[in-house]
Amino acid sequence: MNVSEYERLKATGELPSPKGVALAIIRKTREENLSLGELAAVIKTDPAFVARLIKAANSLVNGARRPAASVQDALMVIGLPAVRTMALGFSLISNYRNGKCAGFDYGEFWSRSLLMALAAQLITRRTRAAPADEAFCLGLLATVGELALATLYPEEYGQLLKEHRALGGVSLKELEGRRFAMNHSELAVAMLSDWQLPDVFCEAVGRFEETQEIDFPEGGREWLLAHMLALAAQISGVCLAHPGDRPSLMPMLLERGALLGLDEVSLLALCDQVVAEWRVWGALLSVGSAEVPPFADLAKVAGDRAPSDSSLMAVPSIGLDGSPETATAAEGGLSVIVVDDDASSRSLLRGVLERAGHRVFEAEDGRSGLELALEVQPQMMIVDWIMPQMDGLELTRNLRQTRIGRGIYVLMLTSQDDDECLIEALENGADDFVTKPLRPRVLAARLRAGQRVIRLQQAIQKDQEEIRHFAAELAVTNRRLQQVALTDSLTGFPNRRYAVDRIQQEWASSTRTARPMCCMVIDIDQFKIVNDTFGHDVGDAVLSQGAAAIKKSLRAQDVISRTGGDEFLVICPDTSMEAALICAERVRRSVERLSIAIDDQVLRVTISVGVAIRDRTMTDPDALIKRADESSYVAKAQGRNRVAAIQLESRESSSAPRLGAAG
Ligand code: GH3
Ligand code: MG
Repeated sequence: MNVSEYERLKATGELPSPKGVALAIIRKTREENLSLGELAAVIKTDPAFVARLIKAANSLVNGARRPAASVQDALMVIGLPAVRTMALGFSLISNYRNGKCAGFDYGEFWSRSLLMALAAQLITRRTRAAPADEAFCLGLLATVGELALATLYPEEYGQLLKEHRALGGVSLKELEGRRFAMNHSELAVAMLSDWQLPDVFCEAVGRFEETQEIDFPEGGREWLLAHMLALAAQISGVCLAHPGDRPSLMPMLLERGALLGLDEVSLLALCDQVVAEWRVWGALLSVGSAEVPPFADLAKVAGDRAPSDSSLMAVPSIGLDGSPETATAAEGGLSVIVVDDDASSRSLLRGVLERAGHRVFEAEDGRSGLELALEVQPQMMIVDWIMPQMDGLELTRNLRQTRIGRGIYVLMLTSQDDDECLIEALENGADDFVTKPLRPRVLAARLRAGQRVIRLQQAIQKDQEEIRHFAAELAVTNRRLQQVALTDSLTGFPNRRYAVDRIQQEWASSTRTARPMCCMVIDIDQFKIVNDTFGHDVGDAVLSQGAAAIKKSLRAQDVISRTGGDEFLVICPDTSMEAALICAERVRRSVERLSIAIDDQVLRVTISVGVAIRDRTMTDPDALIKRADESSYVAKAQGRNRVAAIQLESRESSSAPRLGAAG
């Protein structure tokens, strides 16, 4: 979909978009130097979002650490990009629960989106193609294009949905394309990239509904994300299908799981977990959910209907050819710790691993395995379940509570091949498992699958580091640019733009505290003559040395800026007229005494200073500057090289003493 078409739709104001507090949260998360405290303060204004955020944080840590109890806790767990997108998603749910499109089932749409979010999060925890919190958001928004079409064209889209149901067999995207010259998938991609979701996410959203092969390079991040979304859509499809239709959807679901390296047992457990979370989240978001029987039962019914010979253990889709004898050296090799109390098993593992090019470390029990892990920081650990001191499960649980340990790929060795054990291992944080006695071929295949996950994780980390680095550089550049924009290069003083802002602030502060404030306008006398006689370069030198002399004679609280060619403004906060006049006279004298050596000549300059104090007649800081300016004209008119204050003269009659004069 082209950009101008999208901009046109956006300009109608009809596209679904975040509102209210969500919008404030989204803006806040884009601020440079954002503090978590400030963000938390904004979030706390929306109690519903607080509850959802904390729930999200706790389902992410999954019991691996103390549950998040406050907004700040939750923010520590969930990254800023995810907080932003969650705010977006939740705001859309609240604002688009109903709509004008009679043929569009808004309730069903959000039920499905929520299912996709939860499924995406759980699948990604296994495939690790993205941070789990971001996967949640991605799932939630993956089909937002349908909502957008229903919002943009309520009548026509309702009609089109009716036709789609009646026709059967024709794809919705195709019908949409014919009617609107765009489909929901293209529109979703445009919206997500407008909302600044990463490009890989947008690409996955654009492809996951493809009926033919998803043509991304197999095993790459886009490929994994697109298949992850496709699987999430299949899981939500089963949950929302008519009960009688559910089993028939199972074989394709299992096939997709196998493609992603998810074996049947853990996939079915994962689906059940999606349903359980759906019910909790549904209540929290007021989104409908339904009873769904255990997925294992659905798979069994499907199996009974069409018996197949597919084995329970779908081995990961790549690396099947890897017998240990033929395995080529791993790219770069991994650091692997083998933790097993059985010496013969350790030596077998060492052999397989070393032949595949990995570096191997050994530990004999859980406790020393944990210590070694924190020391070596390996990419992978192969951990026996039953061990003295600390068993494999406890070791894994402990590992997952540390920052280093969370990133380690853990392969659990078990002697039992029963489902309960496998589920327990996975739920305790293991990434995969191998059953004993060890078969080198299977082991090598598992290792390769693990290596693929580790490589992906490293790629993600690298991306994130690059983004962080880029953001930091950008922040520095922005600060520098801002500084340049507000600074005069000749004198190094702040410029007029800065002065205008600053005097506003000081004005407000003086209003608040009821303290007096003054300002001075300083202008060099006959400066044109300096330029005309000695040239512009000499003029510049005189300007900068004169400026330095002025600055030296001011007080610490005075703020000087260069507001024109040879003109300066000094803001004097919390200052009486008397004090300002004393200061101005000191400044005048210091410039008068200045000898500026240019080649073999010595130049002298003088200044005229107009002083003004804030009084009741002034409604804004401009009035104060104007009065100081008028005073500087008076000083010029009275013969230059002097200080004048017209407020003082009008107050004290014409016999007022001269304030400052040429010597
Ligand atoms: P007066 O006493 O009435 O102020 O006389 P003046 O000659 O100083 O008159 P005025 O303040 O109007 O002129 C300022 C001159 O400063 C005009 C301009 O040529 C010169 N000027 C402005 N900016 C610069 C600068 O950056 N460098 C130099 N060398 N000259 C500048
Ligand atoms: Mg001048």
